[in-house]
Amino acid sequence: GMPSLPPPVLAPRRKTRKIKVGKVEVGGDAPISVQSMCTTPTTDINATLQQIAELTASGCDIVRVACPSQDDAEALPAIARKSQIPVIADIHFQPKYVFAAIDAGCAAVRVNPGNIRKFDDQVKQIAAAAKDAGVSIRIGVNAGSLDPRLLEKHGKATAEALVESAVWEASLFEEHDFHDFKISVKHNDPVVMVKAYEMLSERGDWPLHLGVTEAGPAFQGTIKSATAFGALLSKGIGDTIRVSLSAPPVEEVKVGNQILQSLNLKPRKLEIVSCPSCGRAQVDVYKLADEVTAGLEGMTVPLRVAVMGCVVNGPGEAREADLGVASGNGKGQIFVKGEVVKTVPESQIVETLIEEAMRIAEEMGEP
Ligand code: SF4
Repeated sequence: GMPSLPPPVLAPRRKTRKIKVGKVEVGGDAPISVQSMCTTPTTDINATLQQIAELTASGCDIVRVACPSQDDAEALPAIARKSQIPVIADIHFQPKYVFAAIDAGCAAVRVNPGNIRKFDDQVKQIAAAAKDAGVSIRIGVNAGSLDPRLLEKHGKATAEALVESAVWEASLFEEHDFHDFKISVKHNDPVVMVKAYEMLSERGDWPLHLGVTEAGPAFQGTIKSATAFGALLSKGIGDTIRVSLSAPPVEEVKVGNQILQSLNLKPRKLEIVSCPSCGRAQVDVYKLADEVTAGLEGMTVPLRVAVMGCVVNGPGEAREADLGVASGNGKGQIFVKGEVVKTVPESQIVETLIEEAMRIAEEMGEP
């Protein structure tokens, strides 16, 4: 057949240097990775590994765990060893846990310079230990814990203040010839956050970890993150992303992957093309779309499924998709690759679509 062109993207990726977080490459031409963070106590090794397994299954590439105490630090070796994906230890306040995490076999360590006392004096030792172990670092600047000196200078956590902090910390690592780090400059306001990352991307070729911090509950946080990441990714800025939601971390991963898929920065998987419904609808489109989505959850092959309420746009969209239904008069016309394969009563639309989807997926090599 015809060679298929790669899907269009909004901008070429900005060229950043590539680092490694365990087996996952970040920056350069590496695919943009999706991260999340465990909500389990790190000391509960089994619960944490269970959550990491769920995150891995939902498409998480890298996971972070908090390390606020010695007991947490002692749990890190088992977690790092048994996790299927690279583990980053998240360290605030106590530099000794940075060294513990490196010794524990974590793939990377996140440090927050604003929250580590006398951080500047410790950079040399941290850089040396990380380099010896092949561990990378994230310099994680956060509006809520900005270096007090910069807070005083700028009055508040402005984009300029976040960038100044990040560039300063980066220079400290670079002075010690350590380059295996990425940077984040998170703020809860998407506008400030976007400005900060735009400015930071002009200042160096560091790989950037995108995040809107404290983005809120699922609905608000999803939109804040999608808006901010979209603005940056559409300019080629961003090498790894973390959506922060006050919701289970699996939801963060789903949202992150959906953002990347929407921008063609990751191959699309299951895509439901469903209409919003209107006064012409002759079936319950919401219910149909929800039931089809639920029935096909977990499908790993790219499949476009159209669920349309009536015959206005229905047949057209259903024909464009791999599979679809256009409804009318209590019946559904089921389309596969543009051909009507059968017409079924409304009550059988969902089961028929799922059956057909499974059959197509099998042909496409779904395990
Ligand atoms: Fe309305 Fe039909 Fe369009 Fe759905 S496909 S929004 S029911 S006109």
